[in-house]
Amino acid sequence: MNNEVLKNVKVLYVEDENDVREFTGRTIKAIVKEIIIKENGKEGLEAFKENLDIDLIVTDINMPKMGGLEMCAEIRKINKEVPIVITSAHNDPDFLKQAIDVGVSAYAMKPIDLYQLIESMIKAIEPIFLKKQLKETNLFLEERVEEGIEKIKSILDSQDNIIFVSSKDTITNVNKKFLEFFNVDSLEEFNSKIPCITSLFKEEKACFNLNSITGDEKNWIKYLINLNEVDRIVKITNQDRQDRIFTVNIDAYKNNDFYVISLTDITELKEKSNLLEYQANHDLLTGLFNRQKFHEIFGKEIRRDKRYENNLSLILFDIDHFKIFNDKYGHNLGDEVLKFIAKIVSKNVREHDTIVRWGGEEFIVLLPETNLEGAFKVAEKIRVALEEFKDDSIPEKITSSFGVTTLKKGDTENSFIEKADEALYEAKKQGRNRVIIKS
Ligand code: GH3
Ligand code: MG
Ligand code: MG
Repeated sequence: MNNEVLKNVKVLYVEDENDVREFTGRTIKAIVKEIIIKENGKEGLEAFKENLDIDLIVTDINMPKMGGLEMCAEIRKINKEVPIVITSAHNDPDFLKQAIDVGVSAYAMKPIDLYQLIESMIKAIEPIFLKKQLKETNLFLEERVEEGIEKIKSILDSQDNIIFVSSKDTITNVNKKFLEFFNVDSLEEFNSKIPCITSLFKEEKACFNLNSITGDEKNWIKYLINLNEVDRIVKITNQDRQDRIFTVNIDAYKNNDFYVISLTDITELKEKSNLLEYQANHDLLTGLFNRQKFHEIFGKEIRRDKRYENNLSLILFDIDHFKIFNDKYGHNLGDEVLKFIAKIVSKNVREHDTIVRWGGEEFIVLLPETNLEGAFKVAEKIRVALEEFKDDSIPEKITSSFGVTTLKKGDTENSFIEKADEALYEAKKQGRNRVIIKS
């Protein structure tokens, strides 16, 4: 017999016979948490009403004022579960039927055998006790799970990334950064305002948006998962109307039932890499393309030229007596001249012509779809524009000499430039400030 289950039990004991009540009451008291002892059904019912936390009722049957079964029937109206143990000398069928009707859990014969009574009490309380224990265990587990969820939530909230959990098309969880970025108080608010997060992905070169998906099935998550990391980039405007650029990382769980999606802000990194790319391809003094970029563009153009047999021409020009200018006015003013020249040339060529600072004071203009005659005209136009250029800060007229050539079958990058160089040399030789062509 396991007395343990009685240790935390509050008992209502009702018995009209003084001797029995005192003796049995004392015994029960020793093994339970608390006992309330009453002398008849009426008092017992009152006591129950005042102590709704009573766990177990032990009652006699025949008592003045109100019998035990009558009391139990009343108690059942208030509480359908509390276990009841009756002590009685009765065992006729009528009485047993009544006892079953009020839901008596156990029965102890009178005269009372304490051992049997305690066993009956245990038998009555045990299912409730186990149920209670199970409930407590469940509650404990629920609390642990909740604690775990809270922990995960706080980890996600501490992240600098925007993180959200999504099924195919509904966002179900978000972190703090998400709410902050989209300027909403709750996920519900976000979902009511924005039917699908992809509507916030801006259309932008090299960035993903719904229009990037050509097929019928517009499952953006599936689409993005299959892209390389460098292509999983989206642009979203934040609440301050600033465009931010993110890489999108997606982890699929439970057979693609849900996805954890994390957006890492790479705006500054992208700006930096754009700057580095710019620096790698441009001359920083004039803002023109540099030699490196020339090789790249030339490579593309020469392939195009071979395929379509378009004309690709090239102008190479060099400032006349620039050393003398530098010596006379200083290198800084020389630099200013170079910047002016870059602007003037830019104004005098077409958009798809490429201007390159080839060396110190040498420039190249690469002219696609232009024959030798056309290139000569452009060179002449630039030559005149430079000759006629005036600015208060530049004390002397600046002129340049030009070599012009066009790409011929069998030409390489070197031979192409060499031809222009020879023409330029000839222009210098013939007295400078002129355009010489060499086919
Ligand atoms: P020519 O008419 O024969 O071309 O005479 P030049 O003096 O221009 O030719 P040369 O090649 O002898 O000298 C080029 C000069 O260009 C040398 C240098 O002082 C100047 N130069 C080259 N790069 C820069 C630059 O980045 N800034 C400035 N200010 N001057 C430069
Ligand atoms: Mg030179
Ligand atoms: Mg020169």
